[in-house]
Amino acid sequence: MAVVLVVNSGSSSFKYQLIEIDGEEVLASGLVERIGEERGRAEHVTAGGTTETTAEIRDHTAGFGVMLEAFAAHGPSLEEHPPTAVGHRVVHGGARFFEATVITPLVEINIDELAVLAPLHNPGALQGIRAARAAFESIPHVAVFDTAFHQSMPPEAYTYALDRETADKHRIRRYGFHGTSHKFVSEAAAAHLERPLTGLKQIVFHLGNGASVTAIDGGRSVETSMGFTPLEGLVMGTRTGDLDPAILLHLQRRAQLSTDEIDDLLNKKSGLVGLAGANDMRDLTSRAEAGDDRAQLAIDVYTHRLRAYAGAYLAQLGGADVVSFTAGIGENVAHIRASALRGLEFAGVRVDPDRNSSVRRGAITRISTDDSRVAVLVVPTDEEVEIARQTLAVASARVP
Ligand code: AMP
Repeated sequence: MAVVLVVNSGSSSFKYQLIEIDGEEVLASGLVERIGEERGRAEHVTAGGTTETTAEIRDHTAGFGVMLEAFAAHGPSLEEHPPTAVGHRVVHGGARFFEATVITPLVEINIDELAVLAPLHNPGALQGIRAARAAFESIPHVAVFDTAFHQSMPPEAYTYALDRETADKHRIRRYGFHGTSHKFVSEAAAAHLERPLTGLKQIVFHLGNGASVTAIDGGRSVETSMGFTPLEGLVMGTRTGDLDPAILLHLQRRAQLSTDEIDDLLNKKSGLVGLAGANDMRDLTSRAEAGDDRAQLAIDVYTHRLRAYAGAYLAQLGGADVVSFTAGIGENVAHIRASALRGLEFAGVRVDPDRNSSVRRGAITRISTDDSRVAVLVVPTDEEVEIARQTLAVASARVP
């Protein structure tokens, strides 16, 4: 029985899952948060229930101590279920990491150096990696990068039409994110349809609080909507997605906003929140149904852009075999799925309204009609299981 501990670490918190790979069963999960604050908090969830601790948690090393105590006190026993490896989610692997990689001191240096490209994410991941390596010294640790899956994009898809010298000097190009989810969903869709991944043209919409869409040809990402950062592309919970870059210059020159204020505006105060004051699609849907124009416009802007990307990626791929929806909104909101693909019947995409409105939570469901040339699926994503799978694959292939 192979067990993998999956860690997703930020600068002041980390989440973990202990996963038994064969049955893809989560044996325990938890969260350690407010690291470095006076009152830290930890939550440990097992089949037996949830336990909570509050105490000062000085740093990530102390956080792993708290996690180990929770395993010892509430199970499952790590002696009985010893992890074979630890898998770490790392947001940015730059152009250097194109697959999951066993962490060595050199890999740590590279992750640290890539913090230039992901200042909010990579430093926290590195703190988690260092603390976890100290807590689990004798087993391999593997970094699984959000960007890695998109390293297969061709140059014409990842190159911005920016002065080459400036772009190269500052490593400005499309990297793409949510790669772990896009990979998991495209593989699950192929398995569900019992068709080889290598023969399928797929479009995957990951619509959560962050949102991105990827065109996948034969299992390889060939185009994705997030770019140099996760800000580009679709309308998101709090992020603008695509924007004329001259708007930034206008805000600087005319509205006198500082760089930090613009960063905050584009990343935290825009998207659905900026348009309608809320990012929860349940809220927006019921408001729109009750006649709220702002909520309706937010939904319309959101789905207008989904359709634009669906059309563009159908063109880039020369048609698709499968379109999948995943994450919070993709898995749960039927009217968004229907609107995203409205008008695409000419490309062989036909959504069945009854199937679309009776999707079973947690199961892969086909929502297209029987005569639809393109299979449209709802596929629950599981980034932790994907990280665990890749971790085990890389750790077991390692030459001892
Ligand atoms: P995620 O980032 O995948 O956790 O997705 C979070 C977003 O999914 C939330 O902001 C909601 O807009 C949306 N969401 C989650 N569950 C539901 C639901 N049952 N109905 C509508 N929207 C949902």
